Amino acid sequence: MKYISTRGKAPALTFKEALLAGLASDGGLYVPDIWPSFTVEEIADFRGKPYAHVAFQVLAKFVDGEIADDTLRDMIDEAYGTFHHPAVVPLVQLGPNDWLLELFHGPTLAFKDVAMQILARLMDHVLTESGKRLTIVGATSGDTGGAALEAFKTCEGIDTFFMYPHGKVSDFQRRQMTTVGAKNCHAMAVDGSFDDCQSMVKTMFSHDTFRDKVQLSAVNSINWGRIMAQVVYYFTAAASLGAPAQKVSFTVPTGNFGDIYAGFVARQMGLPIDRLVIATNENDILARTVARGEHKLGEVKPTITPSMDIQISSNFERLLFEASGRDAKTVSALMRDLKDGGNYTLPKDVQAFIAANFDAGSADETETLAEIARMYKDSGYLCDPHTAVALCVSRNHAKRDVPMITLSTAHPAKFPVAVHDAVGKKPYPPEWADIAEDKTEVVTRLKNDQIEVEEFILAASRLGSGRNI
Ligand SMILES: *Cc1c(COP(=O)(O)O)cnc(C)c1O
Repeated sequence: MKYISTRGKAPALTFKEALLAGLASDGGLYVPDIWPSFTVEEIADFRGKPYAHVAFQVLAKFVDGEIADDTLRDMIDEAYGTFHHPAVVPLVQLGPNDWLLELFHGPTLAFKDVAMQILARLMDHVLTESGKRLTIVGATSGDTGGAALEAFKTCEGIDTFFMYPHGKVSDFQRRQMTTVGAKNCHAMAVDGSFDDCQSMVKTMFSHDTFRDKVQLSAVNSINWGRIMAQVVYYFTAAASLGAPAQKVSFTVPTGNFGDIYAGFVARQMGLPIDRLVIATNENDILARTVARGEHKLGEVKPTITPSMDIQISSNFERLLFEASGRDAKTVSALMRDLKDGGNYTLPKDVQAFIAANFDAGSADETETLAEIARMYKDSGYLCDPHTAVALCVSRNHAKRDVPMITLSTAHPAKFPVAVHDAVGKKPYPPEWADIAEDKTEVVTRLKNDQIEVEEFILAASRLGSGRNI
């Protein structure tokens, strides 16, 4: 199997190359050149199997023999051994045919752990094998930084740096980043906004000397390794509820379109999914695109669901590639329109493909808070606001004869203010995840200044400083 770019101008890569590259050199995203698939018998056989077993079956299709089976199995066992639940991603029943898939039992209580834990091990393995090192730099509005620093702390060949806007992440999120306690992991508090942090990361990639010296890399959700890891739970959840004989539907709280795109991939691989429902908050550009075929950028509106406060949804490009019949010219033209004019209009056949595969809806803040309160009143269950957005939307797409599975992407304790506003009660993290208030925090406070930030990374990284820590 080869990985090809959605814009058609970058060279095709092997799995290992695509894993380390992240973004393609033509600005596109990598996708497999053909979709691997499972037979109905194989899917039926997933029922009742441990998560790691199914994960191996799914991931092996994409790794395609480039990593020895035993090595891949060991990495998967280790990655999902960090989860604090025997089912890894348990299903919770909410109503007669209504289910919640809890993706937050990983070390940082965020669904990002599902992909980061295996991505870190895969990248470290590929680097160690080739005697290479690299430096990961990222920007986070809260969840991704914690999940990445935690996952990459044991990676010998990788130094990881995450910037967050000083004073703008929750105390719990900050402590997750600042108490990792590993010499190769660095939390940086920047006097600026998330967008300032993000734009400094982008600029670093265009500073050739800096980029080459530290061997700069990224772990944002455009990396194929993250997508493929998220395909797994669509199979395990559907099989638990009777797939492939029974079709199921999913509703997914969506930001960068990585999670729900993984559901689309599962369907391409043979999983009989009835509806894939995109749920957005008031930043509803994707819901509008599905309804009207018009993709029009606006201002990002800050909400109580910050992980979905996005206008440019990177992974949507992968769907456009598929919806246009894998036509890189069409994708490149749409992306050019977006860059130049801030919008594009979908060609009729592309819009028809998307409408045939997806539904969409959005929930505003009032509806989101009301949903948290309703859930708590009905079943005593506290959900996080991102999950509440999806629950709100899923209700409009429920069918009596098709199980609806809503993805729950964060533990409520990560968003205590919104949950308290909704039900007047503070959510607590599970005991194992609680970070003692007196635990020493290690963090570097930096000005919103490209040079200062790059100098810090050069001095603190092994590649930049020439030191071995
Ligand atoms: C990242 C995130 C999302 C959005 O996932 P995408 O793959 O970007 O669509 C939703 N909820 C939470 C809590 C997240 O951290």
